[in-house]
Amino acid sequence: MKRKKICVIGGGFGGISAAILLASKGHDVTIIDKRDKLGGRGYQYELNGFKFDGGPTVMTAPYIFDDLFKAAGKNREDYFTFVPLDPFYRIFHENGDYFDFLKNHEDVIKQIEKWNPSDSKRYNRFIKNTTEIFRLLHPYTDKPFHELKNMLKILPGVIQLGAYKGTHRYISSYFKDDFLRKVFSFHPLLIGGNPFQTPALFLLILQFEKQWGVHYATGGTGSVVDGLGRLFQDVGGNVMLNTEVTEILINNKAATGVRMTDGSVIKADIVISNSDVANTYRNLIPENLRKKYSNRKIDRYQYSSSLFVIYFGTKKRYTDSPLAHHNIIMCKNYKNLLKEIFDGSSLPDDLALYLHMPTITDSSIAPEGCESFYVLSLVPNLKADINWDEVSEAYKNKILQYLEDHYLPGLKENIIAEHFINPPHFSNTLNSHYGAAFSFRPNLLQSAYFRPHNRSEEFENLYFAGAGTHPGAGVPAVMSSGKIVAELIDPR
Ligand SMILES: Cc1cc2nc3c(=O)[nH]c(=O)nc-3n(C[C@H](O)[C@H](O)[C@H](O)COP(=O)(O)OP(=O)(O)OC[C@H]3O[C@@H](n4cnc5c(N)ncnc54)[C@H](O)[C@@H]3O)c2cc1C
Repeated sequence: MKRKKICVIGGGFGGISAAILLASKGHDVTIIDKRDKLGGRGYQYELNGFKFDGGPTVMTAPYIFDDLFKAAGKNREDYFTFVPLDPFYRIFHENGDYFDFLKNHEDVIKQIEKWNPSDSKRYNRFIKNTTEIFRLLHPYTDKPFHELKNMLKILPGVIQLGAYKGTHRYISSYFKDDFLRKVFSFHPLLIGGNPFQTPALFLLILQFEKQWGVHYATGGTGSVVDGLGRLFQDVGGNVMLNTEVTEILINNKAATGVRMTDGSVIKADIVISNSDVANTYRNLIPENLRKKYSNRKIDRYQYSSSLFVIYFGTKKRYTDSPLAHHNIIMCKNYKNLLKEIFDGSSLPDDLALYLHMPTITDSSIAPEGCESFYVLSLVPNLKADINWDEVSEAYKNKILQYLEDHYLPGLKENIIAEHFINPPHFSNTLNSHYGAAFSFRPNLLQSAYFRPHNRSEEFENLYFAGAGTHPGAGVPAVMSSGKIVAELIDPR
């Protein structure tokens, strides 16, 4: 195949993966990103001697990284290291007791028995059936989904396995205990879906973790981004940072290059957008050139929630707390809270949190004797009428106070580094439509064939890699989208 000039808009995991694979095949590839570092949502903040991973912390399926490096003729281990974690997650009941999501099957059964012995009897069947869901869907996670006939192929299996049901409903047929139902149905939250609405087919993620484990990259996810960045340069790729694309040039229904904020133009044979799909269509291509993806259609999609994330470092360690590396803190009115987050129009009162405490595994990312954290709260996206300039400070203090009262005594007086992001960050810095943290919601009618395709349905030479296209959000998924795009462009 003739060497192509390829522009990749955005250096998130999806964009970098596509870029590495295509540069490895000899193409002239340039990643253009508006931020000062690669990584997108995986941006690593450095503050007062602390390194805070901005986004993804739960790494699974290391084979996806290994395959990428192999395709580029390199070894992943020469770039960064994964350390397996066990428990994968510690999930706290509102009364402070917790469930450990452990790697070993028998150990999980023992955890279930602590909550409800009779539920442990159905765990084997639950795993067997979710393994069937995995077998049915996994082959499609790194292949394009451009044809309706593929949907028809999987549909009988989806119906037979009941995987079309909402995850919480599906889980409830195996577990009677209310807390266990929450424990085994939270995975859709990791990709921006409400467990009460998202189809059980996304229990695929639970199976990914069961089969390949949950890992931490030494030095944080930032070291993965650095490793991918180095790999890209090693295979001859170019990176332009602090550069925003304002327009995808279209001629005769085909992408021909990109225009930047300063008006300069890069001509290209192929454009890959790793920028949010909704943003790409809505803001980078004039509406009069679009037929299928009108502004109205884009606005009518259902979007994922947004997030409020506080990164904080303390001058003391909290190793005597009950916390693990990954903690999920449930609340009593969980169902109602999720309804308010996904479909409400104001900031809910209740809190359900994810608390990351990476220094438990890796003290190198904080100054000596210090602890590093991030706490994440799901919040409504910008479709809700919330004035974030007015409420952010109070909301931040409310979360920190909650943590101080329940998990981290004396927290506020021990904080020596702090930063937060809120929905406007997702909209303004990451160019995500409505500030959605995970792009389109993973609903049945917004997944697979029904998600905007990896190859633009409207324009020649335009492709999508990232959370808004197939297969969806989450690091393994967006990296798979990068692979799909690279194979569509150059199947050699
Ligand atoms: C707080 C948080 C925690 C998460 N935790 C996990 C986790 O533990 N595990 C997991 O697997 N997933 C997790 N996710 C989801 C996962 O991080 C994302 O789905 C994934 O990283 C998105 O990658 P992407 O390829 O879509 O690109 P993005 O990360 O969205 O990056 C897109 C890039 O494009 C750039 N860009 C956009 N528009 C332009 C433009 N016009 N010109 C130039 N550059 C542009 C942006 O600056 C950005 O760098 C988390 C997400 C968040 C926000």
